[in-house]
Amino acid sequence: MEAEKGRAVAAGERQAWMDLAVNMAKEALESGEVPVGCLMVYNNEIIGKGKNEVNETKNATRHAEMVAIDQVMDWCRQNKKEPKEVFVNTVLYVTVEPCIMCAAALRMMKIPLVVYGCQNERFGGCGSVLNISSATLTDTGEPFQCIAGYRSEEAVEMLKTFYRQENPNAPKSKVRRKECSK
Ligand SMILES: [Zn+2]
Repeated sequence: MEAEKGRAVAAGERQAWMDLAVNMAKEALESGEVPVGCLMVYNNEIIGKGKNEVNETKNATRHAEMVAIDQVMDWCRQNKKEPKEVFVNTVLYVTVEPCIMCAAALRMMKIPLVVYGCQNERFGGCGSVLNISSATLTDTGEPFQCIAGYRSEEAVEMLKTFYRQENPNAPKSKVRRKECSK
């Protein structure tokens, strides 16, 4: 029954949470990260949020969703709640379709519902490349429901802006780093 509550989020409410996620994606873009922002909402409260931190942390796994999952774990510890019970009643709002890695992590945490903006053509795990979200994978958590399309045009625009900017900037430092490590 608790899980049903999580699914029954009114459309207006979804829009409001997505607006916050879009703001976080903008912050990510401004700090030179892949513009993805997300929130984890439990009982109408944000208990975790994240934006992509791959460049800042130099850790390719620090996607917005992974950052948010860690925050929810911290929240559970601080509030003495069982993560198992919290995640199963949590909705994820994210500006871009979760990638294959994140979709698998969301299954393992048993998040029931993901509301997202645009498709992730490169790495999407909710249909674009693979369909991890709804696949029959008996030993990999639970499938989750997706609702796509919230502010998707802006989310795509931000991604395009990022990949346009990245070309003149990022390769230089990458090349330098590679040269050093040789
Ligand atoms: Zn991801």
